[in-house]
Amino acid sequence: MGSIKINNEKGIVELSGMSYLYVSPNRPLNIDRGTNHAAVIIDGKTLEFTRMVVKRIRSSFHSDIYLKPIIILNGNAHRDPFVRELSDGVIYSFNQIELIQSQIHLINERIKEITFINSLSLEAQIITKLLAFLYSREKRDLDPIPSVISNTNYTFPFLAVHYDFKEEHNIFDVLEIARQEGLFISDFHDRVYLCSNCKSSHLSVREVCPKCNSSNNETFDIVHHFPCAYVGPITDFTNELDDHLNCPKCSKRLRHIGVDYDKPSVLHHCKNCLTSFQDYFVNARCMSCSHDNPVETLSPADIFRYKLTKKGEYAAINGFVSTPKDIEEIIGTVKYDTFKTMCKYEIERIRQTEGNSNIVGVNIVNSGTVFSKIGSSAQKELLRDLVASIRASLRSSDMITFHSSSIILISMNEIPERIADRIAKDIMKILQQLLDNNFKDFEVELKSSVRKLNYHLSAELQIDQMLNDFVV
Ligand SMILES: [Zn+2]
Ligand SMILES: [Zn+2]
Ligand SMILES: [Zn+2]
Repeated sequence: MGSIKINNEKGIVELSGMSYLYVSPNRPLNIDRGTNHAAVIIDGKTLEFTRMVVKRIRSSFHSDIYLKPIIILNGNAHRDPFVRELSDGVIYSFNQIELIQSQIHLINERIKEITFINSLSLEAQIITKLLAFLYSREKRDLDPIPSVISNTNYTFPFLAVHYDFKEEHNIFDVLEIARQEGLFISDFHDRVYLCSNCKSSHLSVREVCPKCNSSNNETFDIVHHFPCAYVGPITDFTNELDDHLNCPKCSKRLRHIGVDYDKPSVLHHCKNCLTSFQDYFVNARCMSCSHDNPVETLSPADIFRYKLTKKGEYAAINGFVSTPKDIEEIIGTVKYDTFKTMCKYEIERIRQTEGNSNIVGVNIVNSGTVFSKIGSSAQKELLRDLVASIRASLRSSDMITFHSSSIILISMNEIPERIADRIAKDIMKILQQLLDNNFKDFEVELKSSVRKLNYHLSAELQIDQMLNDFVV
């Protein structure tokens, strides 16, 4: 048994050669630091804080971050279904770390078995992440969780972290793609109904007036007086002197229901438009966008339980390649592997010629948000447009590739770094212009990085260094 070292200032806990990042509400949050540690321990006393940190970690697109084991320390946050689903255990004091150390070790060992391949579409990236997450936790089941904080009433937390509350319905599409690809099999669980306008499932169902849709209405019994055959709403029979019923037609007092009168049906009266009617309409008002949906116009969504298949497990280890929604070859680009190989040759060449060559990276910083807002076909179009504008600023010998759907890499060979830098700045200006023209209601944030190739270092390492510039 080793002894625990706690560095409160840095938020680092060490035990038998393993170190942990400790995160709590009263210290600055820097998720990236977790990459250097075996796991992240989150102070679980505040549910909001715990949820926020867990979401930040699991929604990252860097495997060093999103797969990181998460342990909740103390408090009640671990009882929250969302937190429970996304974390790996709970301890009640730092002394209990040793009880979970072997489990954390196991997760980290399984993570090492996974190959990470970059998929282009957001859907494919999320599926890749999901497979890796399940595999590293030795889980095969993915079950929907009923939740009032989910906009669709059932949620899959690992998928939901990638979407804004209002976009959460997209996770059903992602799961359907994964099922069609044979990565999961599914079992029917339940059905929800979604607002036809915004796809929220937070609906208030009530009976409304067929004429004006108001829910401000009342219902009366219809009374049928046998002796005189008069039929009318009960209000015709009541009076303000006593609570007996008297017939407005024959002026007799009504005696016993079933004997001299009955109530064959009801009549509804709208207090808003003063119409009387026999049958209500049933409407569902959306609590998210206020749209009042006639129930027959709601969109049904079936909720399934999922199980990872052998193919899914295989895809988790070997990297998920693509989905039908994924981006086919974009004109003007080369495959990432080809790009790497060409960089290798270029490094070889400048070693002999002492020449100057560069690689340039363009990062769509908020790609997750952007792509989830615009959907996959608009995403393809956007990437195509970006490539076309970059292509127009380059010589034909320069290459463009996608490292992922958020990072474009460009080679700029045989020019000084300062010129490459200027071209990159020009490209960024053009791209930003293009994006600003296309997306009026939100901002697409771009970042670029230029690196002069160093012939003492490998192509892989230099590309990795560039990608690190983009880690947020
Ligand atoms: Zn709505
Ligand atoms: Zn009567
Ligand atoms: Zn009405």
